[in-house]
Amino acid sequence: MPKAEFINRLRAKHRPTVSVEFFPPKTSSDGAAMLETAKILKPLGVDFASITYGAGGSDRSTVLEYGSQLVKAGYPLIAHLTCVGHSREELKEIISKYDAAGFAGILALRGDPPKGQNEFTAHPKGFAYASGLVELIKESFPNRFALGVAGFPERHPSSPDDLSDIRYLAGKVSAGADFITTQLFLDNEDYFNFVNRARAAGVAVPILPGIMPVLSLKQARRFCGFCKAKIPDLLVKELESCGEDEEAQRQVGVSWAVRQIKGLLSRGAPGYHVYILNRAQSAVELFKQLEAK
Ligand SMILES: Cc1cc2nc3c(=O)[nH]c(=O)nc-3n(C[C@H](O)[C@H](O)[C@H](O)COP(=O)(O)OP(=O)(O)OC[C@H]3O[C@@H](n4cnc5c(N)ncnc54)[C@H](O)[C@@H]3O)c2cc1C
Repeated sequence: MPKAEFINRLRAKHRPTVSVEFFPPKTSSDGAAMLETAKILKPLGVDFASITYGAGGSDRSTVLEYGSQLVKAGYPLIAHLTCVGHSREELKEIISKYDAAGFAGILALRGDPPKGQNEFTAHPKGFAYASGLVELIKESFPNRFALGVAGFPERHPSSPDDLSDIRYLAGKVSAGADFITTQLFLDNEDYFNFVNRARAAGVAVPILPGIMPVLSLKQARRFCGFCKAKIPDLLVKELESCGEDEEAQRQVGVSWAVRQIKGLLSRGAPGYHVYILNRAQSAVELFKQLEAK
């Protein structure tokens, strides 16, 4: 799907944009479960899906396969792509395949250092920062893809301060990004402060907040540990009050996400992106609770 068609379709809906994120499953039975989740969520008002690229050590080789299946399931697809271990020419080849597969857009990322390495090292013929990848896509495939980049409400863990973090974000937008999807956050004030900083730096593109309905306190601590996101005390208290009851903790996670989304939309967020972790249950409950108002 060409960029103009994707953007026009979203605009024509005159309502907040809703997206969900999948990751490429490791086994064929997980693949079947992912596609079942996709089928369940499609009629619930999801505007597009995204699929990650090598995140958390996941397999990169199946992005094209599962991404194509999501397209067949009726989703406009934003495929993620990282600079990790790729030369400029290899990246161009992958982008050509995304083009042929009919993907609507690309979330252009630098990526994290591979397991066991602390520092990101660019491929000698590749890019040190996501902005290089944005430029490559824009130059090589003009107006073909809706281009997204990552934003970090609590700033990127290796950014020295908020000012440089936003300066580099603004650089990605000047290079050609059409929208920003954020890292997960659990306190809406972090999102609004981030948006204010971005607007003050001249960043005008939509900033789609990333929401993860937490499954349990243990899972929230693990995920927030990876991405250095804070867990508000109130959420910790609500999760702790469930004791060992995992189902009750999951429901606390859904209702926290519902409160977050209502608060975000009421203060002007353009929509929301849900980290669904390939599972349907929390996402379905979330969409239903939002619909019930
Ligand atoms: C929505 C979202 C989706 C993601 N999906 C994936 C995925 O699919 N696969 C995956 O592996 N990872 C994924 N990530 C994680 C991401 O790859 C990491 O957070 C990575 O560390 C940073 O990627 P970036 O694109 O933000 O990098 P960049 O924008 O390149 O920034 C990386 C660091 O360099 C700094 N920087 C940027 N430009 C410059 C410059 N010119 N000079 C000096 N410093 C600079 C930034 O401030 C930042 O600290 C995702 C993150 C988000 C928020």
